[in-house]
Amino acid sequence: VLSIRAASKTFGSRRALDAVSLDVARGEMIALIGPSGSGKSTLLRSIDGLQTIDPPGENGGEGVITAFGGAVQAKGKVSSEVRKARIRIGFIAQQFNLVGRLSLFSNVALGSLGRIPVLRGLFGAWPKETREAAMAALARVGVADYAAQRANTLSGGQQQRGAIARALVQKAKIILADEPVASLDPVSARKVMEILRDLNQTDGLTVVVTLHQVDYALRYCDRVVALKAGHKVYDGPATGLNREKLIDIYGPEFEDVF
Ligand code: ATP
Ligand code: MG
Repeated sequence: VLSIRAASKTFGSRRALDAVSLDVARGEMIALIGPSGSGKSTLLRSIDGLQTIDPPGENGGEGVITAFGGAVQAKGKVSSEVRKARIRIGFIAQQFNLVGRLSLFSNVALGSLGRIPVLRGLFGAWPKETREAAMAALARVGVADYAAQRANTLSGGQQQRGAIARALVQKAKIILADEPVASLDPVSARKVMEILRDLNQTDGLTVVVTLHQVDYALRYCDRVVALKAGHKVYDGPATGLNREKLIDIYGPEFEDVF
């Protein structure tokens, strides 16, 4: 469902991504790992279309990223093809995913408007269908009891579950999560990983998640892609990541996780 063909991204003289290629099949759950600054967020943001990559032919890149067969990037005006590809992608960041002043319920219901919550949605009543979808999504991720609570009074774990629920209401088929558990305690983190895994296994959602915790990558994901200084240095089954490979990725200071 995702195809990244030799994507490069340059910031000034720094090459954040260097001709990275990646094909993601429907229903995969992939961990994206690598040291700080290796390009993980840049890659996820590029897939989401939040950020442009270098144009074709520049810096060794082909500059093509497609989702569901449609380009997610376009110069100038965003075409309907691009919009269509993007609408099925849900993006979850490390924090600040919700509008703090709004209730959890409203945040989740906003997913029905697509990716960019427009102000129009903040007023008036939600259609019955949206209300039901939002409540079902909240129940699915286990935070229905907090529906009426203002988002900025929720714990980090509850907010992340809310962000996932919003992606469900958006009817996302691909979830891109950029360190969704980095600021959570171990128990909440595991819960969020379990929810992502369940959506992947039960609903067949495709999940690409960046993680600093290598043990989570090994435990919850089938496939691991590792970046190092903008290069893809590993792409294979989680079971193939041995100590030697991890030291290669993170350097000799890497603490043995096994
Ligand atoms: P972390 O694990 O710390 O989140 P990361 O792997 O997500 O790191 P990126 O955020 O993708 O790393 O950054 C890759 C490189 O690109 C870094 O060297 C960073 O400084 C650079 N970079 C990213 N965004 C920008 C930007 N908007 N302007 C300039 N440089 C940037
Ligand atoms: Mg990052």
